Amino acid sequence: PLVLGIETSCDETAAAIVSADADPAKRLVAHRVLSQIEDHADYGGVVPEIAARHHISHLDRLLAALMEDAGLSFDDIDAVAATTGPGLVGGLMVGVMTAKAIAMAAGKPFISVNHLEGHALTVRLTGEVEFPFLLVLMSGGHCQILDVTGIGQYRRLGTTIDDAAGEAFDKTAKLLGLGYPGGPAVEAAALEGDADRFDLPRPLLGKPGADFSFSGLKTAVRRAAEACVAKHGILLKQDRADICAGFQKAIGDCLVDRLRHAIADFREVHGDGTFPLVVAGGVAANKALRTRLTAVAEETGMVFHAPPMALCTDNGAMIAWAGLERFIAEPDIDDRDVSPRPRWPLDSDAEPLVGAGR
Ligand code: ATP
Ligand code: MG
Ligand code: FE
Repeated sequence: PLVLGIETSCDETAAAIVSADADPAKRLVAHRVLSQIEDHADYGGVVPEIAARHHISHLDRLLAALMEDAGLSFDDIDAVAATTGPGLVGGLMVGVMTAKAIAMAAGKPFISVNHLEGHALTVRLTGEVEFPFLLVLMSGGHCQILDVTGIGQYRRLGTTIDDAAGEAFDKTAKLLGLGYPGGPAVEAAALEGDADRFDLPRPLLGKPGADFSFSGLKTAVRRAAEACVAKHGILLKQDRADICAGFQKAIGDCLVDRLRHAIADFREVHGDGTFPLVVAGGVAANKALRTRLTAVAEETGMVFHAPPMALCTDNGAMIAWAGLERFIAEPDIDDRDVSPRPRWPLDSDAEPLVGAGR
């Protein structure tokens, strides 16, 4: 089957068409992503109202261009998927209403997709990854480790008790004057830095469990930057690079420690086999962190998998693919009475909101 997927939960207007081709290299038929980064740059973060307006202004033309890229019409598609949550509700409504309208007009089912499940399943679009797998989900709004046993089947082994990983990168970047989004800028600056110059904390390191905490790290980054500015009047480029390198190393140390605990937990349930260790979400684009995770996989007998860089941050392919997986699992699926929900944890049994007025 062919599935069209629409993503509008945050600041990317995106859509894609995927197929169930046996060859992973042929599954992504077409995809388009329109980033709103410039529209939000002046505000140092995503402004929900601006995001929703941008989706409204651009989604129809983006879809027309996508269909042209693919050489397909809506009648050729077997189902239409959209992110129904979690995310900014104004944006979600734009994508969901558009997808439902196309589905209704073409007489095809609408499929509700959890954005986080889209991130989680992307490695199954681009490669062969079987269940169960251990998932490290690191994105702008989330930082979790999950035991994934199937479509819609997630057991949370750890989560952040304050900031998400991407949020920590973004706040650090803002503090250091590196703009938004912060991840790529911090990673680039860190390449020139000495990671051991500043003594930054590793929150929860060595503690039982697999939870994360990043807010203390953010405070320490602020203090380090203030000390540098007090000395020189401005934040020197080298100081900034050293702070970024130290910050990234601290995040990596926490990640490695928490992941080791999660792997032990995962193995208690699934045994000693060679299982996939999957990283997903925008922060999974970070090369230094990928390297740290690859090392943990090797040390613990797991096999490391990450989506290609371009499919780590938000995109339509991940939504189309999660929709396709749900469609194959449940061919008579139709979620047209599902409404957007801003909060929708992966491991909750709660279904998306159904019906009007709820
Ligand atoms: P969520 O998926 O939790 O709803 P989101 O969709 O806004 O949040 P993503 O698009 O998955 O988040 O990821 C964006 C985040 O990834 C941003 O916080 C960004 O700074 C971070 N990020 C992107 N590239 C990198 C990188 N190279 N290193 C670190 N962080 C990165
Ligand atoms: Mg984004
Ligand atoms: Fe995301």
